[in-house]
Amino acid sequence: MGYKIGTHFTPHWKVVNYFQHVAANASATMKLQQYGETNEGRPLLVSFISSAENIQNLENIRKNNLRLANLSVDRMAANETTPAIVWLSYNVHGNEASSTEAAMMTLYALVDPSNTKTKEWLKNTVVAIDPCLNPDGRDRYVNWFNSVVGKNYNASLDAREHSEPWPGGRSNHYNFDLNRDWAWQTQVESQQRIKIYNDWLPQVHVDFHEQGINNPYYFAPAAQPYHEVITPWQRDFQVTIGRNHAKYFDENGWLYFTKEEFDLYYPSYGDTYPIYNGAIGMTYEQAGHSQGGLSVVKDDGDTLTLVDRVMHHYTTSLSTIEISSQNAARLVKEFHKFFNDAVTNGVGDYKAFVIKNTPANEERVKTFLQLMDRNKIVYNLAKGGNATGYNYNTRKEENFSLFGLFRAP
Ligand SMILES: [Zn+2]
Repeated sequence: MGYKIGTHFTPHWKVVNYFQHVAANASATMKLQQYGETNEGRPLLVSFISSAENIQNLENIRKNNLRLANLSVDRMAANETTPAIVWLSYNVHGNEASSTEAAMMTLYALVDPSNTKTKEWLKNTVVAIDPCLNPDGRDRYVNWFNSVVGKNYNASLDAREHSEPWPGGRSNHYNFDLNRDWAWQTQVESQQRIKIYNDWLPQVHVDFHEQGINNPYYFAPAAQPYHEVITPWQRDFQVTIGRNHAKYFDENGWLYFTKEEFDLYYPSYGDTYPIYNGAIGMTYEQAGHSQGGLSVVKDDGDTLTLVDRVMHHYTTSLSTIEISSQNAARLVKEFHKFFNDAVTNGVGDYKAFVIKNTPANEERVKTFLQLMDRNKIVYNLAKGGNATGYNYNTRKEENFSLFGLFRAP
């Protein structure tokens, strides 16, 4: 980069160059894929890092993983002896900019030939790194910051570099919050990303964020109560991961909290969408969003630097991979069980939902089925017969006939 990570904000094009450089020089253990482009034409990237053996076998690992989720079209039996997949998503909110810097450090640690620890983890783990989910928002923040910071940064909160102008870098080009868009996919970034995400369906997913400058670091477990569909295993493993992070934070004397904020209800976040799709989905929150700059004096008089922020996200990145590797077999087994249970037992009061099509609502049904397809939710077209069920319009139990008259869109 020409500088130590955390001493400058890296513009997105340089991040892209770095990932391409590493992919070209570590091709045996890393595969880089461009999965799309933003509204402003910036590339959207995901890189897969694992042992050379796993990278050679990557497409088979992916296909087998979909079989574990009952989503395979080839109907071959799923193999549970397979690497766990850990997906790390950085910088969905553009002005929470430390995490993309941490993504570069994480990549370096994974491909560094002298790092024997990560080499061990990657034997049974495939790591996917998306270095920046919102490049347009990130560059809006970073380009602004780099244009106002002096030769030396000013840590006083009164300095201009800590007052980001409207609309800020949080949202994408159309000022849409991409961390509300996982399920609905109204934005091009989400549409392209969820497609590749659902082609993989990792066992562990982390969404890296930043919060106000005065907060300690937040990691899992999330705030209770949890939605009832979240399984005991998904609850327990969040605790296991949190304990592993706590070990490193305690060693370094870094403050953190768990359980107090960040719920798991709304289905369209970067933690909940993966959870509702069988993963251990989590949000990690570092202090520093928007106001942090390269260094800022907090309310308690202590100074928070970008180097600190990057180190914390880097530490939880590696800790997540470590603990997932140590539990890879169990992660895969429980993931398989999640999808088998969904088919054999189901969750909730009803086994199936019937959507009625009429000429008047045909367009809406078409749009609805498109949303189902994007989320890989399986459905069938009725072929006739009778059924009994709760009618949401009349609010009564009713008998009704199913007609096989639906014209597939
Ligand atoms: Zn955020």
